[in-house]
Amino acid sequence: MTNNLKYFIGNWKMFGNHSSLKIVYQIHQFCKKFKKQGKKNKIVLCVPNTLISFFSKKLKSKIVYIGGQNCHHQENFGPYTGSVSATMLKNSGAKYVILGHSENRAEGETKQMIKNKIQSAMNQKLNIIFCIGETLGEKKSGKTYSVIRNQIRGSIKRKAFFKKIIIAYEPVWSIGSGKIPQTIELKKIFKFIKNEIRKKYNTKNIPAVLYGGSVSTKNIKVFSLIPEIDGFLIGGASQSSKKFIDIIKNYYK
Ligand code: PEP
Repeated sequence: MTNNLKYFIGNWKMFGNHSSLKIVYQIHQFCKKFKKQGKKNKIVLCVPNTLISFFSKKLKSKIVYIGGQNCHHQENFGPYTGSVSATMLKNSGAKYVILGHSENRAEGETKQMIKNKIQSAMNQKLNIIFCIGETLGEKKSGKTYSVIRNQIRGSIKRKAFFKKIIIAYEPVWSIGSGKIPQTIELKKIFKFIKNEIRKKYNTKNIPAVLYGGSVSTKNIKVFSLIPEIDGFLIGGASQSSKKFIDIIKNYYK
């Protein structure tokens, strides 16, 4: 465990209503006290679009940031029923947005669409949490490295983007399943992602690379011993303030 900046980002998925503000407040209260202990971390809660504006106005915090979970690839307004653009997210108070989540890729989101979404979010100066990761089938057929390389190359155009991009490595087979990769595998994959970016984009600005997939209060200690991991994208467990707070506490224990 290091004292470098670590990210703890919650992905609430399709969860929450106005009364969930209490979860946000509890997390904020804890993080405020925790910050005084000198721990360097960034806390972000990516919530449904229906809650971004409400939470951002109530919270006005530089300790816990609010983000969205996706945006349309067209930047402003347009005839896209049910969609929300990067401009609209920004105007609602979002500071971050998750892009390329496997649940959206599974619904037909392509690398080109993600590339356009990244460009839109960049234009709106949103911080981007860009998700990559292989399916179980791809893992079994030895394609993990080529899949994540193609996901990065297919959607990130320029090295300048890395100033606003955080990568989240989320093996699809791990999301919501309780299964996690072995430490040795994770170390190799994280080194590969960072080297790949260094080489391909000829940059020293290597983004933070997070792990996501079944992170829990119990397994966080295992991850804390892997210095290559710069933080976590936490799905199910982030819907409970107790679990989310305990994950942070246990990480630093
Ligand atoms: C996610 O959906 O980004 C995720 C990591 O989910 P979970 O933690 O529930 O596996």
